[in-house]
Amino acid sequence: MDNDCIFCKIINGELPAAKVYEDEEILAFNDIHPKASTHLLVIPKKHVASLNELSTADNGLISRMILLLLMLAEQQGLAGYRVIVNNGPGSGQVVFHLHFHILGGAVIPKF
Ligand code: 5GP
Ligand code: ZN
Repeated sequence: MDNDCIFCKIINGELPAAKVYEDEEILAFNDIHPKASTHLLVIPKKHVASLNELSTADNGLISRMILLLLMLAEQQGLAGYRVIVNNGPGSGQVVFHLHFHILGGAVIPKF
C-alpha cells in the first residue's frame, strides 16, 4: 500500500470505482476517462509501480492477471481488444501502480 497512490485508495475503498472483477490479488474496474467503448483497468492489489518492479516471485500473479484479461474480454463480449501497459516516465504512464488497459469496441480518437 502506497498512501499517495490513487489505485491503492481504490483497492482499500477510500476512492470509488466501477468494479467488474475482484479477488484476493487482483482488481478490475472501468477507466474513469474511457478511450474506447470498453476500457477496463486490471491491477494487482499489491502496490507495484510498473513492470520494472516485477521479479520471478511475481510469475504466478502475472500469469493470473493475463488469463484474467482474456476472461474479462470474453465476459465483456469483445471480439477483439488491445492490451496496453504504459511503463515508466516517457511512456505515458501517469498512475504509478501497475495496470493493464483493456480496450475494445469503438475507439475514441486521440488515445
Ligand atoms: P496510464 O496513463 O498511467 O497508463 O493510465 C492511467 C489511467 O488511469 C488513465 O486511463 C486514467 O483515465 C485512469 N484513471 C486515473 N485516475 C482514475 C480514477 O480515479 N479512477 C479510475 N477508474 N480511473 C482512473
Ligand atoms: Zn498503489
